[in-house]
Amino acid sequence: MTFTSFGLSKALLRAVAEQGYAAPTPIQTQAIPAVLDGRDLLAAAQTGTGKTAAFTLPLLQRLTGEVGSDRWPDGAPRALILVPTRELAAQVGESVRLYGRYTGIRTATVFGGVGLQAQAAAVRRGADLLIATPGRLLDLVSQRHANLARIEFLVLDEADRMLDMGFIHDIRRLLGMLPKVRQNLLFSATFSDDIRTLAAGLLHRPLTIEVAPRNTPAELVSQSVYHVPKTGKEALLAHLLACGRRGQTLVFTRTKHGADRLARRLGQDGFRVAVIHGNKSQSARIRALAEFKADRVQILVATDIAARGLDIRQLPHVVNYELPHVPEDYVHRIGRTGRAGADGVAVSLVCRDEAPQLRGIERLLGRRLPVQPVPEEVLSAAEGERTSPHAGRKSCVRGDVR
Ligand code: AMP
Repeated sequence: MTFTSFGLSKALLRAVAEQGYAAPTPIQTQAIPAVLDGRDLLAAAQTGTGKTAAFTLPLLQRLTGEVGSDRWPDGAPRALILVPTRELAAQVGESVRLYGRYTGIRTATVFGGVGLQAQAAAVRRGADLLIATPGRLLDLVSQRHANLARIEFLVLDEADRMLDMGFIHDIRRLLGMLPKVRQNLLFSATFSDDIRTLAAGLLHRPLTIEVAPRNTPAELVSQSVYHVPKTGKEALLAHLLACGRRGQTLVFTRTKHGADRLARRLGQDGFRVAVIHGNKSQSARIRALAEFKADRVQILVATDIAARGLDIRQLPHVVNYELPHVPEDYVHRIGRTGRAGADGVAVSLVCRDEAPQLRGIERLLGRRLPVQPVPEEVLSAAEGERTSPHAGRKSCVRGDVR
């Protein structure tokens, strides 16, 4: 299967070729023809499967094709992509811009946490396709900057996360503003009853696509755990990072405060570190991600919400410094690695208090995670933490984050 066999326009094929994609991913193979045919879609797909291109490419094709009306004189958008977070909005906006760069399609990306006026101006200038977080879009509509009366295509991306974040009322309000006849695509990593209810009310005879087994992380990610006292986590992490081949690592903490503290300590240890969490301004988050992507920082410390939807190609390592409370978040976290065919390694540092979370994760995965031995020197460093915090970095053992 190649991209040319979908009958996509030259403009789109050129942009895809520039991305260097050799062949469509499984979700693209299934979704692109269906969306081009005008079908509704219910797709179970995690980040990393190529889902963004799976809905963006056919959408762009339909916007440039014969479907519906041409550009509206008032510049009202014809397609709406709703996403849960600012990061995902920025990322999807960037993908749409890349794939659509030769199509002449005008896009606007709107999300909260930054000034409203510039986004309002962009929407008012006219956008065929709007990428938005629900809250900011409602603000723009209520202030009459955005008009949703001409929407022909709706995408809900990471719908499960939108519901987790409490956006259901905002989504329902927005749905009420859209024309009744339209094509709807719903993407979700997991399928709770709430998602099924939303889908049942939204989708008309949808094609259901499931590219990875439900809630199962990419097979390519090798996962393991270290049982380590809380006081030994820092030394173990420093040990793993110091022993690893100089690769980039995404480290998850549970709290914003914990992320800041850990980043500070790693910085003091001489690692190049950036932090990304909900208290950081949007521009600080974008900067941190850019630094990480450009390989100017080696370690990105992140909390779950902030990391949702991060698109970092070929990220080899994820460390769960603390386990998430919600087992599904573990799946999202390790979904950052092993993407687009690359092997990934995900290790979790688990202290006694986190045993219930580990059990929840293993139940979700349907298997026990292998346990790695904690190096002796890390354990003794944990005991004499204050006197010799980084004794564990002196020698390396098998099973490091490589
Ligand atoms: P997504 O699941 O949309 O977040 O995409 C995950 C990553 O896969 C992104 O970095 C895309 O650029 C990349 N990607 C998307 N489609 C393909 C493809 N057909 N071949 C290789 N990489 C792809």
